[in-house]
Amino acid sequence: MAESGKKREFKAEVRKVLNILTNSLYTNREIFLRELISNASDALDKLRFRTNRGDTPRAGELPLEIRITLDKDAKTLTIADTGLGMTEQELADNLGTIARSGSERFLADMAAEGEQKEGEAPDASNIIGRFGVGFYSVFMVADKVEVTSRPAFVGEGGDDGAHVWTSDGLGSYTIGAAEGDEPKRGTVIKAHLKEDAAEFLEKYRIDAVIRKHSAFVPFPVFVDGEQANTQPALWREPKTSVTKEQYANFYKAQTYDAKDPLDTQHISVDVPVQFAALLFIPDSQQDFFGNDRDFWGLDLYSRRVLIQHRNKDILPEYLAFLKGVVDVEDLPLNISRETLQENVLLRKIQQVIVKQTLSRMEKLARDDKETYEHLWHLHGRIFKLGYHDYANRDRICALMRFNSSALADGTDKEPLLTSLDEYMERAPEGQKTFWYVSAPNREAARMNPHMEMFRKKGIEVLYLFEPVDEFVMESLGKYKEWDFKPAETAADDALAAFPDKEQPEKEAVAPLSDDDTASFDKLLVRIKEILGDKVKEVRVSHRLADSPALLAATDGVTSSMEKLLKVMNKDESLPVRDLEVNRDHPLLRNMLRMFKDDANDAVLAEMTQNLFDACLLTDGYIKDPQALAARAQTMLNRAAAWYTEVRKI
Ligand code: ADP
Ligand code: MG
Repeated sequence: MAESGKKREFKAEVRKVLNILTNSLYTNREIFLRELISNASDALDKLRFRTNRGDTPRAGELPLEIRITLDKDAKTLTIADTGLGMTEQELADNLGTIARSGSERFLADMAAEGEQKEGEAPDASNIIGRFGVGFYSVFMVADKVEVTSRPAFVGEGGDDGAHVWTSDGLGSYTIGAAEGDEPKRGTVIKAHLKEDAAEFLEKYRIDAVIRKHSAFVPFPVFVDGEQANTQPALWREPKTSVTKEQYANFYKAQTYDAKDPLDTQHISVDVPVQFAALLFIPDSQQDFFGNDRDFWGLDLYSRRVLIQHRNKDILPEYLAFLKGVVDVEDLPLNISRETLQENVLLRKIQQVIVKQTLSRMEKLARDDKETYEHLWHLHGRIFKLGYHDYANRDRICALMRFNSSALADGTDKEPLLTSLDEYMERAPEGQKTFWYVSAPNREAARMNPHMEMFRKKGIEVLYLFEPVDEFVMESLGKYKEWDFKPAETAADDALAAFPDKEQPEKEAVAPLSDDDTASFDKLLVRIKEILGDKVKEVRVSHRLADSPALLAATDGVTSSMEKLLKVMNKDESLPVRDLEVNRDHPLLRNMLRMFKDDANDAVLAEMTQNLFDACLLTDGYIKDPQALAARAQTMLNRAAAWYTEVRKI
């Protein structure tokens, strides 16, 4: 090979990029190989394209392939392709300058990566992938590189000789004519590996790197004569030729999930962006609110070469459960990252993925309810965050599932759920509100005294079991003109327009006499006196049937929402609300008798306290559990004494 040749200086921005790549020690240096393979694959692709168009390349008998050879004695790694090749001028243009405007940003990102990982070697792989300064990354592992290239096509009278580009990655490079007649066509890159990069002389190591980053390159890649990439890029195959099993195997290999996916989508799109994708809905759950917070995103390929693992620009967070690959035909990595253009491109891909996935889920919800419910149990928690995707909100709402008072209690199987549309169908004429209640479970939801009025009227209430649900409901605002309201905030007469549902005959309670009604009003005043500032007002309830009392929500704020706000404000005080009491409840009737006998009865005061405690507990507040337990204890002591006394036991 010609060692001599014309010496030329690198352009300033190349020098800066090289300076960074050669002088810092990065983790993930292995990606240099991905870059060289992707360049070789591009060169083969271009050759194939021109050949298909009718041009005749030189050495037409050569197969389209990539060969890597490792020489432990010489400490070199050589990668040869039979692709397009480069002329002398092209060597200078392509490997001496950076043909794009992104280098500034590249440098800034690299610097940031270095600072971020204080004391740790920075990871250059994603940044290099994004900026496509690929070729120069070879200088992370090599202190001398020779590129010998012979163009496949030269015009009439053009120079079809091979030239050698040589550089140590510092300030300059040389280009001279190559000795001998190799290669016949294409490019051979010989990297003299640095002392600390000897790992890349091991075949198993190179095989592993190829499996990881370049498994789907569409041309055979041989390492010391043995093919290293054997997986077809399934997403690029015609749908009809791929079996279910192939999809499942691909999914498992990519995700390490032991289970088959719940659903597989194979998408191939031409407008507005040309891309192919394989998207899977896993049959297993991830904890995106905990340990798996960052473990989402789709693998972004550009023409079968992995550009970024877990790219988060092409997937909204609420679809974080989706797994798979997106392969963009023309990802303009040669356009700088900071131009909006690319963001627009990725956003368009995201839009297509969202639309397709929602359609897919809709179909599943329609055709296979059971599987869809299963999907909801696995992924509903993150999917709900879709409430802030305004463009698709109606579709997302329709896909949400809820537990509700109208559903049978779950057996050991997952309980059946309802959609909002099904809720609307069951609702009586005139209802225009989705009512909901927050509770830790079905049992607790049912026991909530606010539910009594709804039960009486036969109006369904959705059960929300997770704290985030209330925020979701609040943010949804409306669905098909119906609004969302917490049952707790329903006024005493909110359901007056709806007829009572047939109830199992209950023993009617005798109405109070006029005298007693007046006394009861005084009792209310006394209760307020006993409770003092703990309540705003004490009044008779018209909604309660079985419970003695409840605390009415004020200003539309539910107790669970209020609790969240208090936590956020580090406020430990208890809410001050209106106490509604059930005048027909035996407890209140007995309290009335006690009151009439002696307005200042100590036991009456104790009971009032206990009644209030119970209301707070129902709404989930525990402030001073010791005092609360002590009050309950006193009551129990008294009750036990009376009981044994009355029953003479
Ligand atoms: P990119 O691939 O994003 O263009 P690189 O730094 O990887 O950036 O490569 C720079 C240019 O060098 C390529 O665009 C291509 O024109 C040329 N090149 C690199 N490797 C080869 C190769 N094996 N065969 C032909 N041309 C190559
Ligand atoms: Mg490249």
